[in-house]
Formats: sequence, structure tokens, C-alpha cells
Amino acid sequence: MSRKPIIAGNWKMNKTAKESRAFIEDVKLDIPSNDLVDAVIGAPAIFLEAMTEAVQGTDLQVAAQNCYWEDEGAFTGESSPKTLSDLGVDYVIIGHSERRQYFHESNEEINKKAHAIFRNGMKPIICCGETLETYEAGNAEEFVGQQITAALNELTEGQVQSLVIAYEPIWAIGTGKSATKDDAQKMCKTIRHIVAENFNQEVADQVRIQYGGSVKPENIAEYLACPDVDGALVGGASLQPESFLSLLEAIN
Ligand code: PEP
Repeated sequence: MSRKPIIAGNWKMNKTAKESRAFIEDVKLDIPSNDLVDAVIGAPAIFLEAMTEAVQGTDLQVAAQNCYWEDEGAFTGESSPKTLSDLGVDYVIIGHSERRQYFHESNEEINKKAHAIFRNGMKPIICCGETLETYEAGNAEEFVGQQITAALNELTEGQVQSLVIAYEPIWAIGTGKSATKDDAQKMCKTIRHIVAENFNQEVADQVRIQYGGSVKPENIAEYLACPDVDGALVGGASLQPESFLSLLEAIN
């Protein structure tokens, strides 16, 4: 089963609009073709318009890092999925562990966001992952299974096969302590199995599953070599143009 790899940078709350435009200028001529890999940058909402303008005519795609689940209304401070779509955003990252931890996002809310993203013609990158405590207690698979089952609730088979799941063990994010390739493969395989159980094998064979957590140019190839890992969601190592391009070079 060949699935197109997807390498997505998550800039978190970093860079200004000017810095983001400079980044795109630096990388745009060296982005591998869209036929080979989906290269995506997840930028802060405040300058997504600058990003979608800057990537026009390139093979780069743009992700938001969050959105609300209603299209419009009295929700002060939230980003509308309808507006993100109108700006030309391709993907929306949802359920990142930082949003679950600091903003108390629940599995049910993440599921509502997934529906809203599809309703507006974009695709979700749904993050999941366990704490160190859960990992050490041997409960990671059960915990992640619940996150995935809840996040995908009542999506159609067609929607699920087109979305992206990012397995990001919380203990590996921004810590420099990446999961082993065996841990990453094992969990990505488990996630695919859960998708097969909840939908069917054909959907599970299509859905793309990324590993995330201290991925860098030096270690990305080991993850990409795993049969159930279809790419990476990368924080720190996506911030510098050279480093982002090196991540993409790992695709062959
Ligand atoms: C992330 O923010 O999703 C992430 C994986 O960060 P880092 O690559 O810095 O660990």
C-alpha cells in the first residue's frame, strides 16, 4: 500500500508575518514536488493570510494550528473554520497535546472540530499521544485508542481515509527525547488497526499516520522507514529553512 508521505511543520507561537514570508522565500524553490510528498507549514492564525499568499505557485501547503467548531457567531477570540478555508488553508492541526493540556480540549471537542474542518473543505491533522506516566504504566495503546475512536466519531469512510493522524507521545514533544522507531511503528500500527476496527481495512490502509516528537533531520529517516509511519509532524526542527528542507530531503 503506497501512501503519499506528509511532512508538516508546527511553528507553534513563533515567528512574525515578515519572518514567515522570508522563510517561504528561502525554501520555495527547493520544495519537492507535490506528487512525491505533502510539505505543510502550520502557522499561527494571525498571519495565515500572509502564508497562503506567500505559498501561491509553490508546492508548499498551509495548516492552521487550531480552529473552532462553529462557522460563525458570538465566540470571541476563536478562529472560524469557514474563514480559514476562505483564506486558502489546506489543513488544520487539532488536538495537539499543548491544546489538550493548556486549554483543556476534550476528545469530544476535537471530534466537533474535525467535522467542522471537513464541512469547510479542509483536512484535519488529528494529534494523539500519551503522557510519560501512561506510557510507563503500559496503558499507551488503550489511551491513544480512546482518543482516536472519539476523534473519528461519525466521520464518513471517505473523510477518514483522507485525514491525517499524528501520533505524538507527550514525553517526546520538545524534549529532545524522541520515541524509538520501534515504539513509533508499534503505535502507528495500533492506530491503523483501530481505524480498521471502527471503519474497515480499506480505510485503514489509506489513512496517513505521522510520528511527531523531537523529529529532526538526523533521525527522520528511521521513522520514515517504518511501514506504518507516513511522515512526521515537527516542531522545533521546522523553524529554520535549512532544517525544514533537510526533513523533506529524507523522502526519496
Ligand atoms: C510538535 O509540536 O508537534 C512537536 C512534535 O514538537 P517537537 O518536534 O519540537 O518535539
